[in-house]
Amino acid sequence: MGMEHVEAYRCIECGEEYEPDGIMYTCPNHDNPMDGLLDVVYDYDAIAEDFDGKADGDIPDLWKYRPFLPIAEDAEPVTLGEGGTDLIEAPQLSEELGVEISVKDDSRNPTASFKDRATTVSVTKAKHHDHDVVTCASTGNAAASLAGYAARGGLKARIFVPESAPEGKLAQPLVYGADVIQVEGTYPEAGQLSLEVTEKYGWYNRNAAFNPFQVEGKRTAGLEIAEQTQGDVPDWVVVSVGDGCTIAGVWKGLKEFEKLGYINETPKMLGVQAEGAPVIHEGFHGEESLDEKAKTLADSIAVAAPANLKKAVNAMEESDGNSVAVSDEEILKGELKLGSSEGLFVEPAAAAVVAGVEKAIEKDVIEKGESAVVVSSGYGLKDLENAKKAGRDPYSLPPEIEEIDAVFGE
Ligand SMILES: *Cc1c(COP(=O)(O)O)cnc(C)c1O
Ligand SMILES: [Zn+2]
Repeated sequence: MGMEHVEAYRCIECGEEYEPDGIMYTCPNHDNPMDGLLDVVYDYDAIAEDFDGKADGDIPDLWKYRPFLPIAEDAEPVTLGEGGTDLIEAPQLSEELGVEISVKDDSRNPTASFKDRATTVSVTKAKHHDHDVVTCASTGNAAASLAGYAARGGLKARIFVPESAPEGKLAQPLVYGADVIQVEGTYPEAGQLSLEVTEKYGWYNRNAAFNPFQVEGKRTAGLEIAEQTQGDVPDWVVVSVGDGCTIAGVWKGLKEFEKLGYINETPKMLGVQAEGAPVIHEGFHGEESLDEKAKTLADSIAVAAPANLKKAVNAMEESDGNSVAVSDEEILKGELKLGSSEGLFVEPAAAAVVAGVEKAIEKDVIEKGESAVVVSSGYGLKDLENAKKAGRDPYSLPPEIEEIDAVFGE
């Protein structure tokens, strides 16, 4: 029944600890629930007992890390084979940038984004605790992911999206059979409504940060990067940042692998935000954000009021890392660069990591000759409209060989 390896849920604000039985969202000691986010505290001796000898680089999927997950022993995973993604060398891109790049290709997860790492954990928990409706507010990928895993687990998904969500991103949750509720308002308003239904109807809530198990699932990417680079840990791990759960999760996983002795040093975390949605970036650099508007074409990181500001800034500080912000133009260039140099097609929020490495080189944050793992967080087909902006125009020619000669003939 229990979770022997979980010691407590601890509030990151006031430090109060709670008995880790089942589902809990936030610390009740705070008027605003988002002030009392919880961290899951583990017994690492218990984890090591289960996991020792298994860090052999062979990772079929993220359930290899079940000893690390806050899931009861008798819970049946709701899974589509997520995680265990390839770490791909990028020789052409490395040559061009003068930094040794490899790509952790999380765009190849079952619903085509990094979000699946979190969703498999939270839907498994929801089902184990007999919830039959799951909900979230999302700009897109979290919605698609939740809808997919709800379908897989035989649960109902009800998803709140803001008006600004790209049309293309709604198709995926709808095909997974979810109820999609388009809220005539902003992302925070959609989020607020999803909290109210959670309270009122008891639907299980997957919102970023509010649900502490999201970060716990996301840290499997950190465990994987550590396991895949044992003996040759990269100087940097580069992550695009919206709400901040991804960077916090990846960092927690990396630290855990060091704590357990599977790697002997940790990389520095580089967070990359869009210039139009820079609250965490500014927070890291000690600036107060005045503007709460999220204006970027990289919709997956267009977050005006990031839920996980504190954990994200902490990840960059603790790792001796840094933060950069990139423009939409730089993001589209990054998308084209990754696609054309390595055959990797990613959505703008994922392409931001390539732009982020370039920006960090420019600012002498990353030095030539260093190594970096960049996390590709979402697949290119998610957002065709912006992909078309990133790519070159096609040739348009009459069906005559002479026309080909004129353009390509030698
Ligand atoms: C959600 C998302 C991110 C950012 O993750 P946060 O936890 O919100 O910081 C980055 N890229 C993609 C493709 C995403 O879907
Ligand atoms: Zn608290």
